[in-house]
Amino acid sequence: MPRESDHTVPNSAAPETESAETTPESASKPLLAVDTLDVHYGKIHAVRGVSFAVASGEIVSIVGANGAGKSTIMWALTGVVRSSGGRVLWDGEPLPKSPHEVVRKGLALVPERRRLFAPLTVRENLVMGAYLRKDKNVDKDYERIFTLFPVLRQRLGQLAGTLSGGEQQMLAISRALLSAPRMLLFDEPSLGLAPRIVEQLMETIVELRKSGITVLMVEQNAVQALEISDRAHVLEAGALVKGGTGRELLDDPAVRCAYLGEIAQDATA
Ligand code: ATP
Repeated sequence: MPRESDHTVPNSAAPETESAETTPESASKPLLAVDTLDVHYGKIHAVRGVSFAVASGEIVSIVGANGAGKSTIMWALTGVVRSSGGRVLWDGEPLPKSPHEVVRKGLALVPERRRLFAPLTVRENLVMGAYLRKDKNVDKDYERIFTLFPVLRQRLGQLAGTLSGGEQQMLAISRALLSAPRMLLFDEPSLGLAPRIVEQLMETIVELRKSGITVLMVEQNAVQALEISDRAHVLEAGALVKGGTGRELLDDPAVRCAYLGEIAQDATA
């Protein structure tokens, strides 16, 4: 098994696999433990033996280029696609494979491009988020959302498709929060948003963590994600090739060169 320091990320056609023993959280019982996950689309091997863990209260990011397999990992976790190998443990137990059971367990996805019900109102989108709830705390959770995003209260009757990009992201997060999750999965949350809105979004994610929600995020635009992440991994051609704290990856010249848009000589200067 190669040491992480041996990796020459990125741009290698056949990436080495990140060493499992370098994930310190795997020693304690994590909330989410992904063990040698494989996903195939026919002959395409989209996710290759991916292992990582997320401890309760952490923000963990997976960064990678277009087509690296980030969304596929999210879809496999939430039961939208079937894995072809490996296992996923949630609080020490196998995670169910059907999407609604995954939501019931406390894992909610904020999907790429929001995937709101555009012709429905903000209120109707929120109601969909709470659809599986039978407990009596739903009203409290609505109040929590309107405290987090006051603009949504004013827009309850507006069609979701007519909201700004930032407002749509607020609605997508709120819809996920209304399922009362323990962990939120963010699939490319910054996609299509102005830098100022992305900054606010990252602040929101930090606030959510403070409120007790664990976060797993996949991102192509890595800077802001790494800045707020306790730990992060680099995904390349379906395999994790490097891992460390968010800070370590931000400071890594190879990562900076490949994912943060710096040219090589700047990265090593
Ligand atoms: P992006 O940021 O562009 O969404 P990604 O890192 O999320 O990229 P995935 O969308 O997970 O990557 O795709 C991983 C690989 O699987 C790609 O090669 C993609 O073409 C392929 N793929 C994804 N969905 C399907 C599908 N439904 N059928 C066949 N191949 C697919």
